Amino acid sequence: MILILQDSLEASALKKLREFLGETNAEYRDVFLHDKSHIVISSNWCGKSLDLERFSDVIEKIIDVKTEYQLCTRDYHKENSVIDLGNGIEFGSHKTVVMAGPCGIDSEYHLMKTAEFLAEKCGVKVFRAGAFKPRTSPYSFPGFEYEGLKLLAKVRDTFGMKIITEVKDDSHLDAVAECADIIQIGTKSMYIYNMLTKCGKINKPILLKRSFMATIKEYLQAVDFIMAAGNPQVILCERGIRAFEPMTRFSLDVCSAALINELSHLPMVLDPSHAMGRAKQVPMVAQAAAGMGVDGLLIEVHHDPSRSLTDKDQTISCEKFHELLPRLQTICNAVGRTLI
Ligand code: PEP
Ligand code: MN
Repeated sequence: MILILQDSLEASALKKLREFLGETNAEYRDVFLHDKSHIVISSNWCGKSLDLERFSDVIEKIIDVKTEYQLCTRDYHKENSVIDLGNGIEFGSHKTVVMAGPCGIDSEYHLMKTAEFLAEKCGVKVFRAGAFKPRTSPYSFPGFEYEGLKLLAKVRDTFGMKIITEVKDDSHLDAVAECADIIQIGTKSMYIYNMLTKCGKINKPILLKRSFMATIKEYLQAVDFIMAAGNPQVILCERGIRAFEPMTRFSLDVCSAALINELSHLPMVLDPSHAMGRAKQVPMVAQAAAGMGVDGLLIEVHHDPSRSLTDKDQTISCEKFHELLPRLQTICNAVGRTLI
């Protein structure tokens, strides 16, 4: 249950409401979102029904959300939330935003070559590349880290693209936040609740990937961690879940994506690259994803995929990406969207 509080209220009246909640043992949390004070009461709390009518001098609106994820739901916010990066880049309107670039930064030369092609030949407006790479093996390349962030700033300054890049843990969150236009939280980091809360205190859009083993409920609860800490700008991303088939890397869970789109007001993007895991089929899956009418696509593209130090098997070449774009445009138009 979400209580949206009046803008101007007497401290003594608020104290009475808190005392009442205290007496009922309700679990609740104070949230400040969209310039309004909220009290979010856990739906796990199974006490007697709350008689809140008498607090109308304190409570402006009561939203009776029955699920444990609350702020991300359409009960809280009926319409689609739009996240506007400026320059016509909007998530949640009738646009499908392509975010393309290498998995990670592996050399200045390849990074700049890829960025040049994507900006100048393809008109890509949001460039992706990780500087801090969460790896499954402790012996794998961990990314260019802080040096990588400097190179991403160079990409932005040279080609004018917006930057989406990953944060792996909160040790480098401030540095990533300074460089990124969108902060990406990867599939393996979805459960780092402390970092979700920290991302909730940052005034930048956060793209939170669904963990490859999270249920829809766990995923949306993770989203609420960010929102409850004060950041309403969350972009959802389905990137594949682990199923029984080892020949594809993961399974793009389009059914969950469709359901989440109904449950949540937040923009949803799909990542065909990490789901498929094989470059050859990525364009086909990207086309299917575009056909869903999602708010964005995250696609790994490299000037020379064979030289990529991370995720090279699933990374498509600049040329393949260039061939794919008009097909994506046609598909997006067919479902009432514009590809940007
Ligand atoms: C990535 O986008 O390169 C990445 C590591 O993604 P994920 O967290 O989905 O594996
Ligand atoms: Mn990757």
